[in-house]
Amino acid sequence: MLAAALLRRLFMLLCLLAGLAALQPAWAQETLALDYLAEPGAAGAQPLSLAAVRALPESAWQHAPAGGASLGYSDKTHWFRARVLQRDPTELRRLLEIAYPVLDRIELHLQVTPAGQPPSWHKELVLGDKQAFELRPVRHANFVVPVDIPLGAELEVLARVTTSSAVQFPLLLWTPATFHPHAEDTNLLLGGYLGLMFGLLAYNLILWASVRERGYLLYGLWVISIAGCITSLKGLSFQYLWPHATQWNDTAIVVLLALTGASGSAFAADFIRIVPGPRWRRWAIHCTTGASLLVAAAALVLPYSVAIRTAISSSVVAIFILTVLALLRAREGYAPARIFLLAFGSVLLGGVLLALDKFGLVARSVFTENALQLGSAMEVLMISLGLASRLNEERELRVKSQIEALKAQREAQELLEARVNERTSALEQANRRLAELSMTDGLTAIPNRRFLDQALEHLIGEAIGSKRSLSLALIDVDHFKQFNDTHGHLAGDQCLQVVALELQRQAHRTEDLVARFGGEEFCIVMPHAGPDGALTVAERMRQAVQALAVPTSVGAVGITVSIGVCSLVPRTPEDLAVLLKATDEALYRAKRNGRNQVVMQLGDAATPAPAPNPQALDLR
Ligand code: GH3
Ligand code: MG
Ligand code: MG
Repeated sequence: MLAAALLRRLFMLLCLLAGLAALQPAWAQETLALDYLAEPGAAGAQPLSLAAVRALPESAWQHAPAGGASLGYSDKTHWFRARVLQRDPTELRRLLEIAYPVLDRIELHLQVTPAGQPPSWHKELVLGDKQAFELRPVRHANFVVPVDIPLGAELEVLARVTTSSAVQFPLLLWTPATFHPHAEDTNLLLGGYLGLMFGLLAYNLILWASVRERGYLLYGLWVISIAGCITSLKGLSFQYLWPHATQWNDTAIVVLLALTGASGSAFAADFIRIVPGPRWRRWAIHCTTGASLLVAAAALVLPYSVAIRTAISSSVVAIFILTVLALLRAREGYAPARIFLLAFGSVLLGGVLLALDKFGLVARSVFTENALQLGSAMEVLMISLGLASRLNEERELRVKSQIEALKAQREAQELLEARVNERTSALEQANRRLAELSMTDGLTAIPNRRFLDQALEHLIGEAIGSKRSLSLALIDVDHFKQFNDTHGHLAGDQCLQVVALELQRQAHRTEDLVARFGGEEFCIVMPHAGPDGALTVAERMRQAVQALAVPTSVGAVGITVSIGVCSLVPRTPEDLAVLLKATDEALYRAKRNGRNQVVMQLGDAATPAPAPNPQALDLR
């Protein structure tokens, strides 16, 4: 956006310069009124002699418009005529300037005639860019000839012009006092222009060398082609670069113009980013660039008059194609395309200013004379800023997409983590549930034998450590087979469920464990409980079961259990087996004694516990 602001300023500067151009005092030069005529026949067919031209009737001459004669491309040889009367008593010297440096051959006849007398002075000289530069009377890019005109005398200028370039003959008359400031202004502007162009060329070549973006290289080529083209058209390349190469001087203009077209279209394609886009746009650019390169190559062999026309036509087509493409891209919302159009516009503005200057519609000044140069300088500056802004925007876009990619990556990671956590906790829950299930009896929903075994292993260790007693009770439903046979297996299952529930209800202490031992047998583990406590619990359970009403198909039925109890203070883990065995024996005795009773068995037969006689423990 900084670049956009800069561009606005640059545009304002351009407007300011245009305004200054209007304010700049016009140079005090005189544009001479011209008459012209074309020699009959093709160039060189039958040259008219000076005498023959002088003898022609006035009607043979045509008046040129105020800005000077501009007759376009022509095969004919033209004669131009101007007359000027010396009225200035202070300065008799004049500098006659033909302000169009690409004319091939000018045979200039100058004649001074004092008032009412025969001609006093006559001079003939040959000018044109088909002669080595050093032959010019004044070292200047345009053709400049000094003449001294006595007061009141008339200077007659007759020029025979043969050229393969466009036929233009802007004839200016300066005094030395006005010509030199004008030359200085022009040189200053030219120096600035070339400095800018070479600066941009170097800068973009360096950029290209470091970032390898071909846009910079194309831009550099384009800048140098424009600068070369404009300086050649102004006769400066001839003056400074190839003052002897008269043939090449013509060719160079065409080659440089064609190269401007080629590098300009290749650069524009890159700058307004026609790729990706419809294929025809790429084709249009390829054709434009290819045609321009072809013209540049053809210029080396074709005659200048043909080559320059071809180059101009191909440039017009190229400008049209580029403008259309830039308009399309701008409409598609691509900001650099707008900058491109604006930059193109500034050259156009320069061209219009120059045309206005040439047709004498604005006062001639250093700005209007060099409007094309100024316009092209503005153009390359704007494009340069556009390149910078595009670089910036693309970098921002890259950073933005990197941030977005990082964000998306982080989000995906977070999502993945959340899913993993979710799954892990679900898995943990499932595992817990599985563990629970694997430790729970499916029928009665109380801890199963596996759980019981693990608990016993743990509790025996604890009891050994704390030297406290551990009591067990084994509970077996009496005549359960018979119950099953009488009421059915399903009623048997239900009976086991009712008993399990009741046993759990009767285990009041939280540390007591009720588990299914197997079949219709249950086991009660009573940590820290001594023989008395264990007996009490067992008896309470026996009575509770006896009081149960087990539902069957024939109504509620009572059942009983036999219980074997044992209690000991274990010393080694092996005492667990002793405890289990003794409890089982107690149960066996309870059964043998007639069922529905509790029998206490001592844990260690070698050291009988101070417990009552098992017989006495039959608490029925
Ligand atoms: P006692 O008084 O001597 O204990 O006689 P009993 O019939 O209870 O003993 P026995 O060991 O002969 O029979 C036990 C029966 O328990 C045999 C078996 O079918 C039944 N039983 C074992 N587990 C289950 C069970 O889960 N559901 C049902 N319905 N019956 C079971
Ligand atoms: Mg049994
Ligand atoms: Mg039984």
